[in-house]
Amino acid sequence: MTHPLLDEIAPLHDDLIRIRRDIHAHPETSFEEKRTAALVAEQLRGLGIEVTEGVGRTGVVGTLKGKRPGNRAVGLRADMDALNIVEQTGLPHASTIPGKMHACGHDGHTTMLLGAARYLAEKPDFAGQVHFIFQPAEEGGGGAARMVEDGLFERFPCDAVYGMHNGAGTPVGQFRLRPGPMMAAVDFFTVVFRGTGGHGGSTPHLATDTTIAQAHFVLALQNVVGRNIAALEPAVISIGSIQGGSPNSPNVIPAEIVIRGTVRTFSEEVRATIARRMRELAEAHAAAQGCTAEVIYEKLCQAVVNHPEQTAIATRVAASLVGDDRVDGNAPPITGGEDFSDMLLARPGAFIFIGNGVKPDGTHHPVHTPHYDFNDEIIPLGVAYWVSLVREELAAA
Ligand SMILES: [Zn+2]
Ligand SMILES: [Zn+2]
Repeated sequence: MTHPLLDEIAPLHDDLIRIRRDIHAHPETSFEEKRTAALVAEQLRGLGIEVTEGVGRTGVVGTLKGKRPGNRAVGLRADMDALNIVEQTGLPHASTIPGKMHACGHDGHTTMLLGAARYLAEKPDFAGQVHFIFQPAEEGGGGAARMVEDGLFERFPCDAVYGMHNGAGTPVGQFRLRPGPMMAAVDFFTVVFRGTGGHGGSTPHLATDTTIAQAHFVLALQNVVGRNIAALEPAVISIGSIQGGSPNSPNVIPAEIVIRGTVRTFSEEVRATIARRMRELAEAHAAAQGCTAEVIYEKLCQAVVNHPEQTAIATRVAASLVGDDRVDGNAPPITGGEDFSDMLLARPGAFIFIGNGVKPDGTHHPVHTPHYDFNDEIIPLGVAYWVSLVREELAAA
């Protein structure tokens, strides 16, 4: 991979690795990103960039004006939060905070955006403004929505907004994205079956049995995708937890069973159908056994839907750095979620994956696992993508 811009960014690499590892060693979870936000603000101020802190609680926005006149503005977004995972990498820069870990690479995202800020502050040869958006609480905390509600795009008007995530398992030097739905809407559900409970040995005929109601419900739920959703519409329904009774009491029919799971969809219509069918099936199977069912359906985040025009720009920019054959502009959607969707609902934009690499044996540590680490090797390419995107978006004089 050779590109003049990568050569220009190379001298920044060592210091950016230092920053990335410092953030990695000090992970902070949703809305607790105080040290990280302070580090970001200090770095930006050091570059002479105008800084606004406390946007959406712990979010930070840096604003840089180009040296050429222009009315357009573009938002570049990185996320800053970590996860509640016990790190097992054994690396020198491993987490120093018990039970918390940067296992999704947001330390790297923050660093790449700081690198872009550093480069662009030194060479602001663009027309208009760049808003560097450092978001808190991406991991289920609704940080993007908090920033938008806090007036992100009114206080820092953006004609387009872009996001980037590392792609674990995608080779270094490759990018992938797609126009339209790219990542799923994420929902959690809880279904509580309630019955009388009873003596499972002597008087089962006097009990209403939650175990039978939940068993039928679990099986029927998997038929929703096969029978209620059109064959070419993707959807996932998974149950992650079934809790009821006591392992010490195999002769007791539990009076309550709680089932929890997740739903992933790419369209609001499919999402609504699943929520409706879930309620109908839970209530019907509960009633069939003389029990009741309570369904709590929580929408965690919306589907990431890339806008076609900005996706084309992002694809072109990535290809200018690594070549057409290393950018998959029509990558398959994935059923993971990402709350950048909330920014894409407010402004046109595109989300892209940058390859985080594959080990020589073809394997990789996925995000959200205790051995994952962001790949420092990709920092210059990530910086180059942001810089090129700004030059492309804010080219007009
Ligand atoms: Zn994550
Ligand atoms: Zn992430």
